[in-house]
Amino acid sequence: MAKLPKSPLQQLDAAHHLHPFTDSQALHHKGARVIERGEGVYLWDADGNRILDAMAGLWCVNLGYGREELVQAAEQQLRRLPYYNLFFQTTHPRATELAASLATLLPGDMEHLFFTGSGSECNDTVVRMVRHYWAEQGQPERNTIISRHNAYHGSTLAGASLGGMKPMHAQGGLPLPGIVHIDQPYYFGEGGGQSPHQFGLQRARQLEQKILESGPDKVAAFIGEPIQGAGGVIIPPDSYWPEIQRICRQYDILLVMDEVICGFGRTGHWFASEYYGLQPDLLCMAKGITSGYIPLGAVAVGARVAQGLISGGEFFHGFTYSGHPVACAVALANIAVMQKERLVERVHDDIGPYLQQEWASLGSHPLVGETRGLGLLAALELVADKSDNRRFDEDVGAGVICREHCFELGLVMRAVGDTMIISPPLVIGRLEVDELITKARQALDLTYQTLM
Ligand code: PLP
Repeated sequence: MAKLPKSPLQQLDAAHHLHPFTDSQALHHKGARVIERGEGVYLWDADGNRILDAMAGLWCVNLGYGREELVQAAEQQLRRLPYYNLFFQTTHPRATELAASLATLLPGDMEHLFFTGSGSECNDTVVRMVRHYWAEQGQPERNTIISRHNAYHGSTLAGASLGGMKPMHAQGGLPLPGIVHIDQPYYFGEGGGQSPHQFGLQRARQLEQKILESGPDKVAAFIGEPIQGAGGVIIPPDSYWPEIQRICRQYDILLVMDEVICGFGRTGHWFASEYYGLQPDLLCMAKGITSGYIPLGAVAVGARVAQGLISGGEFFHGFTYSGHPVACAVALANIAVMQKERLVERVHDDIGPYLQQEWASLGSHPLVGETRGLGLLAALELVADKSDNRRFDEDVGAGVICREHCFELGLVMRAVGDTMIISPPLVIGRLEVDELITKARQALDLTYQTLM
C-alpha cells in the first residue's frame, strides 16, 4: 500500500505532475522533494533544510543562485521586447549581439551561431544541419552519424538516438536510422589492463573501424562530449581526442563537440575543445550559457560548414524560441559577469585545482577505487574491494545509497551507477569546497556502514 505523500503540495504533485527522468511509482510513494529557493551554492527545501548544490542544478547554474545581474537583464528585456522570432530574415539586437560575443569566445574559426532553446534542440539541429550540409555538397548519401555508447546528447528523438543510453533506446525503438555507436573511452570501467595511452588510442580507432564498416562516403559526422557528463564524468586518456581529430580529418568527417556541460568555464576554459586542442566543425552549448536561469542553446558553426549553409539557400529548420530575446539578454549578462569576475581563470588557476586536490583526498576512503576530475567536474568510483577495484553487484545500489546519505547530510551529489559525480557552481568558495568534501566523506562513511 503506497504511503500518502506528506504535504498538500506533494499530494497535488503526485496527483497531476509527471516528472522527467523519474520513477513515478517511487515518487508517489515518497512524495517529491520540494526545493523552494536558492542563494549562491545553496538550496533550501520546503522543510527549511539548507542543501549544498554540488551539481549546480543539472550542471548549469554556473553563476550560482540569486544573481541580481541576470534578474535585471531579464526584467529589462521583458519590458522592452519580451518576444520576437528570428525567422524570415529578421533579428533582434540581443540575438545578434550574443552571436557576435560568442564568436569572440569560441575556438578556431567558429564565427557563426544558430540559436535553439536547449541542448537537445542543439543536437537535433546538428543532425539536420550536417545532413543538409553534405547534401548541398552533392553528397546526400553522407548521412550516417557516429556517436558513443553511454554518451548523453539529450532527450528528443535525435538527441536520445545520438546518446548511447541503453534504457533510453529501449523505450520507443531508438536509435533512429543512420545513427551508430562506438565504445566509450572509460578507462576505469573498461580499460582491461591496457595502459591509459593504449586504451585511448584503441577506443579512438574504433571510429576508423566504424567509418570503414559504414563506408567512408556514407559518414557525415562524429559527435562526442569532450568529457561525458551524464555517463559519469568520463575523462578520456590524453591520447583519445587527438586521434579522433586525426581520423575525422583523414576521412573528411565533420567533428561535432557537444559542450552543453563542458562549455562556459566548467573545465577552466571557455570551451573544453581548447583544453583538448580540438578544432571542431560544430559545437553545441546550452546550460551554462545562461547559468540555467532561462532556457537557451546554440550551435556554433565553423567556417567550412557556415559557408556551405550560407550558399545552400534556405535551411528549413528553427524553433519558435530560437534565440529568445530574454534568454539572449540573460546570456549576455552571464558572459559579462563571467568576464568581470574572471571566473574561467578562477576555475583554471584557483578553485578548480583546490577542489581537485581536496577531492583526491577522498581516494583514501576504503570505498573509493578512483577519483578523477578536471576544473569543476569530478567523479569517484565506489568499489566493494579496493585491492582489485571489484565493483558491487548492480542490485546493491551502492551509488543510490551514497546519494541518499548525501541528501540527508545536506549535499546534492549525483550517482551514475556506482560513480558519484559533482559539478558545482563556478562561484563556489574554498570554505564551501571544504564543506562539500566533509559531507562527501561523511556520506561515504555512512555508505560503508550500510554496506559492510
Ligand atoms: N548534451 C549534453 C552533453 C547534456 O549533458 C545534455 C543535458 O544534460 C544535453 C545535451 C541535453 O540538454 P537539454 O536537457 O537542455 O535538452
